[in-house]
Amino acid sequence: MTKSHDAIIDSEDAAKVREQFRLRAPSNDGGSPHSNFAFTGILRCGECGAAMQTESATGRNKIYHYYNCSRAQKGSGCRNRRISAGEFDQWMVDTIIQRVLTPERMREVIAEVQELTSSWQEDHDRRRQAVIKQIKECNRRRQNLFDVLELHGKDAPNLGDLTTRLRQLNNQLKMLEEELRAIEEEDAPTVNISDEQILEATGLFSKVIQNTGDNKKLRLLMGHFIDKIVVNDSNVEMEYRPDRIVNTNEKSRELVVHSSENWLPEQGSNLRPAD
Ligand SMILES: [Zn+2]
Repeated sequence: MTKSHDAIIDSEDAAKVREQFRLRAPSNDGGSPHSNFAFTGILRCGECGAAMQTESATGRNKIYHYYNCSRAQKGSGCRNRRISAGEFDQWMVDTIIQRVLTPERMREVIAEVQELTSSWQEDHDRRRQAVIKQIKECNRRRQNLFDVLELHGKDAPNLGDLTTRLRQLNNQLKMLEEELRAIEEEDAPTVNISDEQILEATGLFSKVIQNTGDNKKLRLLMGHFIDKIVVNDSNVEMEYRPDRIVNTNEKSRELVVHSSENWLPEQGSNLRPAD
């Protein structure tokens, strides 16, 4: 089996992006009570690296929800870092829509995917050269056997051995040539998406995020491409995988935006391969 996917996987890791956002310090006047907040499980304390979890406090006439460092909650080695959960969610969702899910950013993502294509090419050339080298070596050994046969004819020493080895070499050569042909027939991954499609995809995606009233669903959406969000005192660092926002579908080699339950409503999306 060939290792055609190694280079692509490596580049995928490299495609992980870290972005910093200024944090507008949320005031502590609370948000509407939710049992789940969108960024639970994604937030990390910038101070100690532990998860930030929600906690609530009962005020005079409402319940306040906060994210706080889980280590501080247990009283074991970090300071309280309470931020209003409702406000943070709203701010973070807005920030992601304004800063990450923009047509410009999507174009960058696509350029990154296209860069994967060049690493694919390198890997492809390397594999091709390796097989060519093996074929040359095989031919050289076969030529040696022919030389012996030519020199000694039917009186060649160990004639049976020689013909067995010749047959083995022929088989090996046949397999190598097939391998080479398969490598040469591989198509480089290409991406093909129009500006209109980018606009439509980002628009739809932003709409889905803004309009989902379900925080659990929102958390699933976010968790799909965000690895973590580190909450520092003066900013927020987000690590995410842009290639998971738009993704190349290997079979059709068409750039698609994650569809249906994950990203986009199935109907109305014309991001299917155009044929
Ligand atoms: Zn902490």
